[in-house]
Amino acid sequence: MQTHQFDVVIVGAGGAGMRAALESSARTRTAVISKLYPTRSHTGAAQGGMCAALGNVEDDNPEWHTFDTVKGGDYLVDQDAATIMANEAIDAVLDLERMGLPFNRTPEGRIDQRRFGGHTRNHGEAAVRRACYAADRTGHMILQTLYQQCVKNEVAFFNEFYVLDLILTHDLTGREVPDGEDVAVSGVVAYELATGELHVFRAKSVVLATGGAGKIYKTTSNAHTLTGDGMALAYRRGLPLEDMEFFQFHPTGLAGLGILLSEAARGEGGILRNADGERFMERYAPTIKDLAPRDIVARSMANEVREGRGAGPNKDYVLLDLTHLDPAHIDAKLPDITEFARTYLGIEPYTEPVPVYPTAHYAMGGVPTNVEGEVLRDTTHVVRGLYAAGEVACVSVHGSNRLGTNSLLDINVFGKRAGISAAEYAAGASWVDLPAEPAAAVVAQLEEMRDRPQGERVSDVRRELQQTMDTNAQVFRTAESLRQAFQDIQVLQERYSRVSVQDKGRMFNTDLIEAIELGFLLDIAETVVVGALNRRESRGGHFREDYPKRDDESFMEHTMAYRRQPGVPVDSPAGSAPKGEEVPPPGPGRPVVLLGTKPVVTTVYQPMERKY
Ligand SMILES: Cc1cc2nc3c(=O)[nH]c(=O)nc-3n(C[C@H](O)[C@H](O)[C@H](O)COP(=O)(O)OP(=O)(O)OC[C@H]3O[C@@H](n4cnc5c(N)ncnc54)[C@H](O)[C@@H]3O)c2cc1C
Repeated sequence: MQTHQFDVVIVGAGGAGMRAALESSARTRTAVISKLYPTRSHTGAAQGGMCAALGNVEDDNPEWHTFDTVKGGDYLVDQDAATIMANEAIDAVLDLERMGLPFNRTPEGRIDQRRFGGHTRNHGEAAVRRACYAADRTGHMILQTLYQQCVKNEVAFFNEFYVLDLILTHDLTGREVPDGEDVAVSGVVAYELATGELHVFRAKSVVLATGGAGKIYKTTSNAHTLTGDGMALAYRRGLPLEDMEFFQFHPTGLAGLGILLSEAARGEGGILRNADGERFMERYAPTIKDLAPRDIVARSMANEVREGRGAGPNKDYVLLDLTHLDPAHIDAKLPDITEFARTYLGIEPYTEPVPVYPTAHYAMGGVPTNVEGEVLRDTTHVVRGLYAAGEVACVSVHGSNRLGTNSLLDINVFGKRAGISAAEYAAGASWVDLPAEPAAAVVAQLEEMRDRPQGERVSDVRRELQQTMDTNAQVFRTAESLRQAFQDIQVLQERYSRVSVQDKGRMFNTDLIEAIELGFLLDIAETVVVGALNRRESRGGHFREDYPKRDDESFMEHTMAYRRQPGVPVDSPAGSAPKGEEVPPPGPGRPVVLLGTKPVVTTVYQPMERKY
C-alpha cells in the first residue's frame, strides 16, 4: 500500500472536478484522482449548451434566469443558490472563453446563444436565447479546455484510480456525534486499476466531483461509468443524501436505446409529433410548447403513448421532426446528434422524423452542500474539509427538475467555488490523523469478493436492478410500483452479498470494479425509492399517479436520506420524521434508510402553480 499526501484531493476529473482543480492548484498542492482518463468523463458527452444571461442575441438578465430556474425546479430550489448561479453564469462563460473555448459566434463575432427548455424572457413571456454552445459538442469543448489548463497548472493526476472509501473521523452510521465534536475528513482510499494496489491519499481537504448515477436505470443517456460512487461513499459513512427521489427523464432519448438527442434539436426548431402527426405539446404547454421543461415534456410523451397515440409498430414512442429545417442548418448546429440517428437507428433526419422516448438522464439529488461547496452532515453542521460539486452534489439549484444547460453551468460555478473553499480551508487547517489501518475496510471488501469461489453474477443482479427501476420508478410512479421496487432491491441486496467475480487477478480487474460499482448502484437506488415512497405528492421529475398534485403544505421541504445501522436510535439530527408511506423494514441485519427533512430556502419567489 502506498501513501500520498496533498493539501487538496479532488475525486473526479469531469467538469466540476477540473474546474475545482484549476482554482485549488493556483493556491496549493492539489491532486485529482479519476477512475477514467480525464477527457473520457461524462461532461465530454454533453451536447447542447451552457446557459448565461449574456443578452448577446436577445434582451436577457440574470434575474429572469433565476426565476426560470426556481420555477423549472417546481419551487424546491434553494433560491439563494440559484441567484448565485445565475449571477455568476456570465463570468463562468467568459472564463471559459478566455481559456480558449471555441464557442459558436454570431455574425458580429459575439458568443452565439440558442433556445432551451424552460428558459424564458420576462418570467415566462416567450422562450429566450440563453444557451452558449459549441455546435452540439459543448461538453467536449469544456472538458478539453479545462484539462489543458489543469496540465498547465501542474495538477497531479492519478488516472484509472478508483476511490473506494472516504476516511472520516467518525462513522456516523453507528452513533450520533456528541455535542461539541467536529466531524472531519482526513483522506480517501483508492484502488489502482493497472496493478490492483491500494493507495491512501491523506488530505486536508477532499472535493467529491464524481458525477451522476444514471446506471440505476436500464434506459439511460448516461455512460456505463455513472454509478453514483461519490454519493454512495458519503452515504455509507452516514452522511445524508438530499432529494434523491428526483431523477430527470430527458424527453428525447433514441427510442429503445436511451442514447441522447440534445434538447438543442428542439431549441433549433425541432417539433415533437405523435402517430397522427399532431404537434401534441400545444395541448400540454400552449405558450412554449416543445420547449417546456423536461419533466413536463417527458410526461406528455409518456401520456401520448399510454393513450394509444404512440408511433411505430408497437406504438411505443413519439417522433422528433427536423424535416422542415434546412439540412445546412442541421449540419452546422446539430452534426453529432443527427449522426447518432443515422448510426444507431438507420434514420435520415433530413427527411424522416426520429423515434424518441424519455431516458433517465440526471440526478437532481446528491450530497448536500452549502453555496461554498461544504458538505453537510445534517441540516446545519458541515464536515470539516469535505466539499462536493457537480452532479454528485445537491446545492440545491435544480430543485425537483433541472433546466437544460443549467448543469454545465452548475459544474463551472460551484466547481470553482468548491475549489476555492477547499484550498482556503487547507491553508489554515492542521492535519487530521489517519486511523491506524485506513484501508482495512476496503481490503476486507475486495478480498471477500475476489475469494468467494462462486456466487451470484454481477451482470444478473445489475440487469434486474435496472429493470425494476425502469418498470417501477420511472416517469410515472405509484405506492404499489415503488413498494415493488423496494422489495426487489431488498432481494437484490441479499443476492449482492453473495456476488462473486470470475477474474481473480490483480491487474486491470474490471470485473472486480464492476462488482463494487453494483454495490453503489443498489444503495443509491434504495434511497431513490424510499424517498419516492415517502413523498406523497407530485412535483417536478417525481410524479405520483396516486397523488397527482403538488402539496406545498406537507412537502415543501428537501428530503434527507441517512443510512443507519439497525438499532441506532432514530431521533437524530435527521430533521423531522417522514410523512409518507411507511417504508417496509429492510432485510434482517441490513442498515435502514432513515428519512429526515431540510427547509427550502425561499428568498423572493413565492410558490405558484407551474404553467407554460
Ligand atoms: C449525453 C449527455 C448530454 C448532456 N448534455 C448537457 C448539456 O448540453 N448541457 C448541460 O448543462 N448538461 C448536460 N448534461 C449533463 C451534464 O453533462 C452533467 O451533469 C455534468 O457534465 C456532470 O459533470 P461532473 O463533473 O459532475 O461529472 P462527470 O463529468 O460525470 O465526471 C465524473 C468524474 O468522476 C470520476 N469518478 C467517478 N467515480 C469515481 C471513483 N469512484 N473514483 C475516482 N473517480 C471517480 C470519473 O472518472 C469522472 O472523471 C448532459 C449529460 C449527458 C449524459
